[in-house]
Order: sequence, then structure tokens, then C-alpha cells
Amino acid sequence: MSFPLVSNSRISQVVSKFETKMPHAIIIEGEYGTGKKTLAKYLAKMAVCSGEGKPCDSCRDCHLSDVGSHPDIEVVSVKDDKKTITVDQIRELKNTVYLSSHTADCRVFIIEKADTMNLNASNSLLKVLEEPPAKTYFILLTESKSSLLETIQSRCTLLSLFTPDKEEALKYIKDSSKFDEKDIINALELNKNNIGKALEFLNGAKLSKGVTVAERYFSLIQQNIVLEALKTTVSLESNRLATNDFVKELKEILAKKIKENLSFKESQKEYMTMYDVVCDMEPLLVTNINLTLFFTSLTSRLMSIKN
Ligand SMILES: [Zn+2]
Repeated sequence: MSFPLVSNSRISQVVSKFETKMPHAIIIEGEYGTGKKTLAKYLAKMAVCSGEGKPCDSCRDCHLSDVGSHPDIEVVSVKDDKKTITVDQIRELKNTVYLSSHTADCRVFIIEKADTMNLNASNSLLKVLEEPPAKTYFILLTESKSSLLETIQSRCTLLSLFTPDKEEALKYIKDSSKFDEKDIINALELNKNNIGKALEFLNGAKLSKGVTVAERYFSLIQQNIVLEALKTTVSLESNRLATNDFVKELKEILAKKIKENLSFKESQKEYMTMYDVVCDMEPLLVTNINLTLFFTSLTSRLMSIKN
């Protein structure tokens, strides 16, 4: 397993020290796609590894970690029908935390989206962090540490992840996948070098192409880079579903802008007019309109508002 953060030598240095002594509680913060889960899995594997030079990649504990079924690594995540980590999940964790480990000589609890814990759940977790059982590690994942209780933050070692630069991101994806360099570069450009998002894009994952293109498109429109903006839409021209997502996302971006500019009447008016244009054009997508024509017309109408 390669170290997930090729780019961040500081993190890499910090983490290499964990081989001899891992802090009992860690917060990994970073925006979506920066590798929080990958790093958490790496640390968990390091903790349970029973070989030399942890993680050794060859002991049974390492193998079980790699396939996500090590009995001493527990992942607490938001359940499908919920939006938060519930207090019941933390209570369950508390019930198991004092049990002894199965095959490794320690236990690791990874709490994904830790910022979704409400006050009750947070306080419940805090109690465990205050009196941690021996040989137990907690890894909390969040987009921003500030959304966690300060009392929790103060008991954890913080690792902050950032989006790498283009070369590093390209090298990482090239080394760890079989995608074409040209496609990788395109995916990284659309996703501002965010490795996770670029990989999702390359894998055609749910995060629709349309959403990613809309973000890039809008930013180019704002900078008056019209031709480049149009170019971003080329990849959608044969994909009506992705174009629907594109339009929905564009509306969301504009709605957000309108809200952000409540006290700047001029900008707010401009965003509102742009929003109206998108709404006006949206019904065309259920007709048989040629998508190239759709994007050209949308772009020229948006630009005429800006100029
Ligand atoms: Zn090992």
C-alpha cells in the first residue's frame, strides 16, 4: 500500500513517527477527496500490523486490513438512512471499546464524518477520549476540525490534508491506476487537482461529470474566458443526463451566489438574471435540442449579462 499523500512531506514525516508511537486520538481534516479515508486506513493498518517496518504489507493483519475485514478495525460511518453519526452509534462504540482485541494487540476505531455528531454524541465520545482504554486508537475524519467540539480537538493530534499540485496529483494517479495520462490530466483540471474527485470522475462515479463541468464552466464564465468555458462543455455534448446535472448544478451555484451577495445589489442582480436565463433554457433539454447549440446559446446569453 503506497502512502496516500505523496504531496505532503510534512504529514509523511509526522506519520512515519507513528510507527513507534501512535497518538491515541487523531483528527484527519481535509476537504472531500483529499484522502482522509485512505490515510485513516493506512494508520489503522500501521497500528494493527504485527510485522517489522509497519505496515509491513505481508503479515496477516496487514492483509486483513487491506481487504477491509480486520476484526480490530472498526469503522463508524453515517448509516444510509441517516444524515448524522447518532448517539446510539457512539454508545455502541463505548460498549465495545473496553473489550479486548481479537488478533492484533490493539484496536482502532475510525469515525467518518465526525462533524455530523450532535452534541450528545460528541459528549459521549469525549468521555471515552478523556479516559481512553489502553491500546485503543481513535481516528476522527472531518472536512474541518472547527466543526468538532474544542474539548475533542484538544485531545487529538491533528493531521490536515491539502490538495496537491498538478504534477504530484498526476504522478499519484498514474502510479496507482491504469488510466490514460491525457484523461488523468483532463480529470485533474476539471477537479482542481483533487485526487479523490478526479478518480471518481475517471471511474465515472456518481459525482456526475455534469456537476464537475458546471463548477469549472462557471468559474471560466466569471473570468470572461468564454472559449475555454465552451470547451469544458464539449465532453457533455453526447450525454443528456450529464447535461441535466450540469444545469442543476449551475442553478445551485447561482442560487448560492445570490445568497452570498445579498448586500451587493449590483452583483446580486447579475446573478439573478443569470439564474433566470438558466431556468429559461432548462426546459429545452426535454426537447430534442442539439446540445452543442444549447451550450453555445446558454454561454452567449450568460456572457451578454456580464458585459
Ligand atoms: Zn504487517
